[in-house]
Amino acid sequence: MSTHQQTNAIRIQTERTNEMEHSTPMFLTSSFCFDNAEDMRAAFADETDANIYSRFSNPGVQEFVDKMCALEGAEAGYATASGMSAVFGSFMALLKQGDHLIACNAIFGSTHTIIAKYLPKFGIEYTYLDANADEAAWEAAIKPNTRMIYLETPTNPGLDILDLEMIGRVSKKHSIILNVDNCFATPVNQQPIDFGADLVVHSATKWLDGQGRVLGGVIVGRKDLIKEIYLFCRSTGPALSPFNAWVLSKSLETLDVRMERHASNALFIAQSLEKNEKISSLRYPFLASHPHVAIAKKQMKNGGGIVCFELKGGLESGRAFLNNLKMLSLTANLGDTRSIASHPASTTHAKLSEAERQAVNITPGLIRISVGLEHKEDILNDILQALEKC
Ligand SMILES: *Cc1c(COP(=O)(O)O)cnc(C)c1O
Repeated sequence: MSTHQQTNAIRIQTERTNEMEHSTPMFLTSSFCFDNAEDMRAAFADETDANIYSRFSNPGVQEFVDKMCALEGAEAGYATASGMSAVFGSFMALLKQGDHLIACNAIFGSTHTIIAKYLPKFGIEYTYLDANADEAAWEAAIKPNTRMIYLETPTNPGLDILDLEMIGRVSKKHSIILNVDNCFATPVNQQPIDFGADLVVHSATKWLDGQGRVLGGVIVGRKDLIKEIYLFCRSTGPALSPFNAWVLSKSLETLDVRMERHASNALFIAQSLEKNEKISSLRYPFLASHPHVAIAKKQMKNGGGIVCFELKGGLESGRAFLNNLKMLSLTANLGDTRSIASHPASTTHAKLSEAERQAVNITPGLIRISVGLEHKEDILNDILQALEKC
C-alpha cells in the first residue's frame, strides 16, 4: 500500500490468477467451491474468510471495497447495490427502537423519505437541523437516546458546507456515531474520517462510476460498526453485483484525474456565470461569495463538480432554460463525463412540501449543473445561449 491515494486506487487488485491477466478479472459467480467437507465446515463456522456465496462476499466486490477503504482511510467496508441500500443498511444495522437520529435537513430526497417516513415505523425518532446550525444547536439537539448523527456535505442540491471538524467534535464528546454521505465530494476531495466520522456512505452511481453506467453503493468506516452492517446486509440481501463491482473498481483508477478536471471545469463555469444578468445568485463552494467558503477550504481540496444557480425569472425561466439547452443532458443523474442540468423542485425534491423545500433553499428557479468533462468553453457556451432565451 502506498501513502498516495491515487496509486492505491489503481494498484489494489485481486490476486493474479494462473491465467496471468493484467486487468482485474470479473468473478461472475453466485457461489464458491470447497475442496472438501472440512474446508466447507470451517468457512461456514467463520474460522476462515473463504468466499461462500456472493450475497456475503465476492473477490471483485472486495477489490472495490478495499480500494474505497484505502481512499477514505477506513478500516473496513461493505458494498451495496445502490447508494440508498448503503444509507438504509447503515441505519437499520445500527439503530433500534427507542433510538434517536440527528440529521441535517439538507439531504438527498430518498434519504429524507427513509428518515421521516420509514424510521418512525420502527420506533426510531429523528431531529432535523438546518445546514447553518452552529455548535450550540448541535449540542442542544442531543438527547440521552441519540445514537447517530447523519449528514451530507456539500449538500444536495443546495451546496451548503457543513463543518466536519465541529460536528466530529460534538459526536466524539457524546460517543455518537457520525455517519457522513460523501457522495458529492468523493474521497479524493474530502475524507470525513479525518474529521471524526465513524462511517462514510456513498452512492457509487455518481462520481465513483463517473460515466452513468451502473448503480452501486458502499459503506466504509470503523470495523466494529461495519461488522454489524455486514451481518445485516448478508441476511437481507442488498449485495453489489460482481459485474457492477468490476465496472466501479476500474472507475476508481481514474477518479483522481477525473475529479480534478470536473472541479476545474466547474470553477470556470461558476466564475463565468457569477455576474450573469439572468442569474440572481450562484453557488460554488470555492468562490469567495459562498457563505461557507472558509469551511470548504478547510475540509475540501477543491470545490467539486456541481454548480447551482437561481434564475431571476423563477419557475418559467427554469423551464425555458432546460428546454433551450442543446448539449447538456436533462437527466436525473449527476457525476457523469457528460454535463447535466436539472431542476430539483420538479424532480428529485418534488416529494418534499413547499415549506420543506424552502427550508433547504430549493427555490422554484434553482438549476443544478453537474459539470462534465467536455471542453469547458462548450459547456459554458451551451449554458449562455440557453440563458439568453430565459
Ligand atoms: C444519488 C444519491 C444517493 C442515492 O444513491 P443511489 O445510488 O441512487 O441509490 C444518496 N445520496 C446522495 C447525496 C446522492 O446524490
